[in-house]
Amino acid sequence: MQENFDLQAHNTFGLSVRARYFCEAASVQQCRDALQFACAADLPLLVLGGGSNVLFREDYPGVVLHMTSRGIDVINESAGTVLVRAAGGENWHGFVQHCLHTGMHGLENLALIPGCVGAAPIQNIGAYGVEVKDLITAVEVLDVTTGEIAELSREQCEFGYRDSIFKRGLRGRKIILSVTFRLQRAPLVNVSYAALAQAVSHIVDPQPQQVFDAVCAIRRSKLPDPAALGNAGSFFKNPVISRGLFEKVARDWPELPAFPAGDAPHTSVVRDSVKVPAAWLIEKAGWKGRRLGHAGVYELQPLVLVNHGGASAADITSLAEQVMGSVEQKFGIRLEPEVQWIPPRSMD
Ligand SMILES: Cc1cc2nc3c(=O)[nH]c(=O)nc-3n(C[C@H](O)[C@H](O)[C@H](O)COP(=O)(O)OP(=O)(O)OC[C@H]3O[C@@H](n4cnc5c(N)ncnc54)[C@H](O)[C@@H]3O)c2cc1C
Repeated sequence: MQENFDLQAHNTFGLSVRARYFCEAASVQQCRDALQFACAADLPLLVLGGGSNVLFREDYPGVVLHMTSRGIDVINESAGTVLVRAAGGENWHGFVQHCLHTGMHGLENLALIPGCVGAAPIQNIGAYGVEVKDLITAVEVLDVTTGEIAELSREQCEFGYRDSIFKRGLRGRKIILSVTFRLQRAPLVNVSYAALAQAVSHIVDPQPQQVFDAVCAIRRSKLPDPAALGNAGSFFKNPVISRGLFEKVARDWPELPAFPAGDAPHTSVVRDSVKVPAAWLIEKAGWKGRRLGHAGVYELQPLVLVNHGGASAADITSLAEQVMGSVEQKFGIRLEPEVQWIPPRSMD
């Protein structure tokens, strides 16, 4: 347990905020020890993986528990289907690579997403036409109050678009120890996403390795590397709005793009709703490439907020709030952060 610990290397925004206490946990026992320490000291506890989906708005007044558990095990295999369980502290991209190299397919489209396996179910990570919920069969959790271990089925996780029960009813109440995935031995690929289909269009029968390579290449060309430019990926979700609101906005902005809502967030399933691209709204509100002090909106992808170097937690928070405010004022559409704010906003 380290005291007054600088979290700069543990959040991809690269913000220099401090945790009152910080420890690593590679085992269930170490998780339980940390929980006991926090409970005895009457302090809150925050589980951290790669810190790639968090915005620390201030120093953390409790215990930050960094998951470092390792292990990838095939637990069952039949008729070409493999159940593989990975520890919460495994690096996500490393796990995707391991599965590809050992002939277990389905995760290729989710290559190069930063962070750890244990965080993947939290916001149901998704990219290039695949959401992780479609591959997860179970999530093993440790209850932070009782210290008991349980397994949640996919249904119990209540997955939605960048959403799950871990962001709502179970927020902060479970430590994800491991995740079990159902993968395929057959080299099936999913190139339904237009940009990916385009990238492999010169290949007659694209194989999983080629899809993996194409996803990595697209991501490297579009998204800033947090090691070079601090960021947390897409800062905002694409808003899911009612068709009525869409038609109202489209009267003034006929070029406003819209997509089928798909899985709307579980809490606010809107019938007959559409998804509109947050990047489009932010760009039209004039924010693309703009800077406020050391914080900025990335010039190649306005969904991404960046730390140009030396930005404070307050700088990023203020930029995010101003972007949300001006999009709402211009279009009447409220942007919702995808990144988890610590502490949460009062309306979360
Ligand atoms: C450049 C870049 C690109 C990205 N691209 C994508 C993308 O394409 N698609 C996408 O969905 N996301 C994307 N992200 C967001 C992010 O990578 C994912 O959300 C990832 O799953 C976060 O993992 P993490 O380990 O860094 O989580 P953290 O940031 O460490 O934690 C996120 C949340 O999960 C909780 N948490 C973490 N681990 C556990 C655990 N074991 N038990 C309980 N709670 C836990 C934390 O308390 C926190 O609330 C991107 C981020 C970056 C920086």
